Amino acid sequence: MIRVRQIKIKVLEDSIQRLIEEVSKKLRISSSDISSYQIKKQSLDARKKDAIFYIYEVDIKTEKEKEILKRNHSKDIFKAPKEEYQLQKTGEKSLKNRPIIVGSGPAGLFCAYLLAEHGYYPLIIERGEKIEDRIKTVETFWKEGILNTESNVQFGEGGAGTFSDGKLNTLVKDAFFRGKKVFEIFVECGAPKEILYLQKPHIGTDLLRNVVRNMREKIKEMGGEFRYNTCLTDIKITDERVEEIEVNHQEKIPCDCLVLAIGHSARDTFQMLYKKKIQMENKPFAVGVRIMHPQKMIDESQYGKMSQYLPPASYKLTYQTEKGRGVYSFCMCPGGYVVNASSEKGHLAINGMSNHNRDSENANSALVVTIGPKDFGKDPLSGILYQKKLEEKAYQVGNGRIPIQLYKDFCENKTSVSPKTVIPIMKGQYIMSNLNEVLPSEIKEAIKEAMPVFGKKISGYDREDALLAAVESRTSSPVRIVRNERLVSSVEGIYPCGEGAGYAGGITTAAIDGVKVAEKIAQTYKSEETV
Ligand SMILES: Cc1cc2nc3c(=O)[nH]c(=O)nc-3n(C[C@H](O)[C@H](O)[C@H](O)COP(=O)(O)OP(=O)(O)OC[C@H]3O[C@@H](n4cnc5c(N)ncnc54)[C@H](O)[C@@H]3O)c2cc1C
Repeated sequence: MIRVRQIKIKVLEDSIQRLIEEVSKKLRISSSDISSYQIKKQSLDARKKDAIFYIYEVDIKTEKEKEILKRNHSKDIFKAPKEEYQLQKTGEKSLKNRPIIVGSGPAGLFCAYLLAEHGYYPLIIERGEKIEDRIKTVETFWKEGILNTESNVQFGEGGAGTFSDGKLNTLVKDAFFRGKKVFEIFVECGAPKEILYLQKPHIGTDLLRNVVRNMREKIKEMGGEFRYNTCLTDIKITDERVEEIEVNHQEKIPCDCLVLAIGHSARDTFQMLYKKKIQMENKPFAVGVRIMHPQKMIDESQYGKMSQYLPPASYKLTYQTEKGRGVYSFCMCPGGYVVNASSEKGHLAINGMSNHNRDSENANSALVVTIGPKDFGKDPLSGILYQKKLEEKAYQVGNGRIPIQLYKDFCENKTSVSPKTVIPIMKGQYIMSNLNEVLPSEIKEAIKEAMPVFGKKISGYDREDALLAAVESRTSSPVRIVRNERLVSSVEGIYPCGEGAGYAGGITTAAIDGVKVAEKIAQTYKSEETV
């Protein structure tokens, strides 16, 4: 195959026929010489609003490959490289018990998938419900406010990312094609094929649920086992090595290989691990609000009059305050919903979600401010306490509902009465409030300083009737469980994994970390197949 890069096609002329014409022109062959093609990348260049292009990278098959490569001088034309993922199974130690994976979020699921695929018969324990039941539980919470602290937007099969926009983009370099493997598994399990080549791939919560279900079924077919409503509550450690786990405060399960893929919201589990003296440290993260604007306004700002021919636009904004704090947009959801993502009674946290079509009227994004040990202290769990205090405040100010406010009133420290042109599009009950009563001064002052700057970058971003909601507190894990180069914690046999352990931020990087941990297990232990 020959790889051809930098194929520019005007948005209004975009078609496969046009793409093949441009590729054959670049290779100086006729379209009929191309026997097959595969799109490797598609990105959008919208720097000039009156000249917006799709940029393609394509692999093509042609009889004329040798001739083309011989006369070629362009750096955009070359032999397509071999890009295959491979897991090295070099482990020699025997496992007494099958590996146990705690948590079925992206990290746990992809670790389980790889281990099952290579004959390790993993047991996956999940404190929340299987996805079919979890969906009903979450819908009830959003409609009636009845929170199940074990099965909610954070906890349950599929993990935190299930009720999300399912954005998969990551800046992580993919030298060993782990990311490619993750995307291929997503597609095998029902995700749309275009995620394999889009610059900003997303699945959407409506499709993600099926992907999670299909992935579970595949893992079971390959010998994995799932146990739901099963919470890791204790660990028995002998001679600095894991020997047994306890679930649901009663049942003991022998264990010599334990993957902790527990996510950033498992505060009781962090507490238990801390008491067990498993080495942990706190880490900086960010907190703030979620802001809503009409999606149309964002589309026009990003694409001008071409917006009608393009999918809903996204944006990324950053700013550094005079005091040196970072303020940035995070987890932007085009055509999405602001959701109540709480997991603890008396505490309120929000996040964002979209369906695959991103078809709601609103764009929303977290607008967050960086915080660190100087804000919450040095103790490993002090970041969690900072989060809890914020969420408690949000719960009280909203009286259990999501507190929202007009931007103008936020600046004037006045409680809002009703929305104006921007309509709240939310999952979960909400109430007009004054977010100045929720946010500590360092957070609200930083947001107020940044907004006029953002308003210059995106026209109308700081409009008076933009809606703010609070509190966005779980942007990443406030804790890191220390691990060595074998990805093992301070206790032998325990593998901290994914976002909760402090080694990922988002669905794709969590999944890739799950793959990495599976690799390390396969490089240490023999699989059942090889026993
Ligand atoms: C509403 C929302 C929208 C998001 N949108 C996006 C997005 O669009 N794109 C993106 O990249 N990221 C998004 N994220 C972040 C993303 O979901 C996380 O980064 C990712 O899910 C982390 O994966 P993980 O497997 O490490 O942990 P998690 O997905 O958090 O999974 C951890 C799992 O462990 C289980 N668990 C915890 N403690 C125990 C225990 N003691 N015993 C048994 N099981 C336990 C939990 O129930 C959970 O299912 C979003 C998050 C939320 C909440």
